Amino acid sequence: MDYDDWKLQSGLEDEVVVCNCDECGQEIYEGDPIFRIRENGEIVHDTCFVEYARSALDASYEIAEKEDNND
Ligand SMILES: [Zn+2]
Repeated sequence: MDYDDWKLQSGLEDEVVVCNCDECGQEIYEGDPIFRIRENGEIVHDTCFVEYARSALDASYEIAEKEDNND
């Protein structure tokens, strides 16, 4: 099978790579939902945004607990 046959069979011929995600490093395709970080121009998948924001803001993901100060 040559490359053109493979390309047709794989159905990837319409996928246009726009850039790479600045969080996960994977390709971002035309039509993908993204977040563009205005501050530095970086682009991340919408699904990567929470992770990106967590490291950018040094936030920790936790379960909310009522603080108990009865000691
Ligand atoms: Zn990503």
